[in-house]
Amino acid sequence: MLQRIDSEVRSKEAEGGQTLDPNDWRGLRAQAHYMMDDMLDYLEHIRERPVWQPIPAEVRARFHAALPSLPTQLAAAHEEFMREVLPYAGGNVHPGFMGWVQGGGTPVGMLAEMLAAGLNANLGGRDHMPIEVEQQIVRWMREIFGFPESASGLFVTGTSMANLIATVIARDVALGFEARVRGIVASGKRLTAYASNAAHGCVTRAMDISGIGSDALRLITTDGRGRIDLDLLEETIEQDRRAGFAPFLVVGTAGTTDTGAIDNLDELAEICARQKIWFHVDGAYGALAMLAPELAPRLKGLGRADSLAFDFHKWGQVPYDAGFLLVRDGVVHRKAFAASAAYLQREQRGISGGSSWPCDYGPDLSRGFHALKTWFTLKVYGTEALGKTIAGTCELARYLEERIAETTEIELMAAVELNIVCFRYRSAFFVEIREIESDHINREIVIELQESGSVAPSSTILRGRFCIRAAIVNHRTTRAEIEMLIEQTLALGRALESNYVSCLKTELN
Ligand SMILES: *Cc1c(COP(=O)(O)O)cnc(C)c1O
Repeated sequence: MLQRIDSEVRSKEAEGGQTLDPNDWRGLRAQAHYMMDDMLDYLEHIRERPVWQPIPAEVRARFHAALPSLPTQLAAAHEEFMREVLPYAGGNVHPGFMGWVQGGGTPVGMLAEMLAAGLNANLGGRDHMPIEVEQQIVRWMREIFGFPESASGLFVTGTSMANLIATVIARDVALGFEARVRGIVASGKRLTAYASNAAHGCVTRAMDISGIGSDALRLITTDGRGRIDLDLLEETIEQDRRAGFAPFLVVGTAGTTDTGAIDNLDELAEICARQKIWFHVDGAYGALAMLAPELAPRLKGLGRADSLAFDFHKWGQVPYDAGFLLVRDGVVHRKAFAASAAYLQREQRGISGGSSWPCDYGPDLSRGFHALKTWFTLKVYGTEALGKTIAGTCELARYLEERIAETTEIELMAAVELNIVCFRYRSAFFVEIREIESDHINREIVIELQESGSVAPSSTILRGRFCIRAAIVNHRTTRAEIEMLIEQTLALGRALESNYVSCLKTELN
């Protein structure tokens, strides 16, 4: 056994060191508590703030300051953060935020991030407990989604990355793993993939980045409820085969970004089994609906997927970023990414033990401890409460739908499947307002709502028409924000419209 370094030698060596630790731990401790209290105050009193506000030019300009070569007091840097960063955040923490599909975060998640940063763990690999925490989440996700024990799982930044990894695995399965060495062209196969035209844009990008090319992605028409047309899908697959293509991947969506539509996953699984094609599900935000017993049946067939991508940072309310990929056949997953390197030697004992490592399952070597904030969130709140908040956002969406039905000047633009409501303001007068003007008015409503700081929806285009889109994801949102959305949409719509009409009259006179 080696002698432990005695503390006298250690302290002598430390004297000459250039450590970044403080001399005055007590002072740091006091400052740390201020910083934490400020963030807890921020979360507790978030309702008293605007959802979002434009960044003043002088604030933006101050972030063009010179690179600091000399130190600044921590307290001063914190003060600058409080004054110049925090007030101009994106707004997704706020209950009035309904723009895009973004989670609200939680105080528990925030605290867990602090612990994770303190540990500064690198989850690329090796034998340490943070890896076990990640593996615990993998086991829990297998259970939630009905995946077998042989399934692998991996934290990634988000579903964009998870979809890309799944595409690469499916590609390698279709071409054989030698394609990793010889490239796609050497196989002589012309791969084709399939998703609905409501699939997320990152599916197209995954095709592009993986070298298959976005032209090889067939975007299949959706039905009246935004779901992939199954007959057309199978027809297109067979047509492609006859034309000499090699269909290799179908991406189903569980909760489309635009409208929250859920593809018929069970039927997609059936088609993929019949056609011998990899079945991937993009469940970025929708997959966690599995935690809500009233919603789970809508995801039937999800457990039959070859791979599933989803985010904890959306409906799961885990602070950014926390995406996840689950792959039914862990061996295939590993084969698509594992590589050997002398400096990543594995051992039976010591820190280099515990192989396989997470770096064998994706492109990242160094990886942060995404798992800890997720573990804390699942553990502290429990899946029941998380499921209830998910169901709660859908209930609010139905409430908004009802309010729209009662309001003649607002029309619903897509069926409400989950938590996303698309609508538009329409004419209160019997004047002929051209569609392009109507689009303009609705675009203005969205911008003015965002700038008002009260509620912040986003927008989308459905059937060629500009729509106001309320994606209710935040666990803090209540009926009060829904009412505000309706009232202010009406007020803004009426004002913009009468403005338009009076402009029209002056033009005519
Ligand atoms: C948000 C979303 C994505 C992208 O996920 P990120 O975590 O932002 O990378 C992909 N697909 C769908 C359906 C989404 O809603």
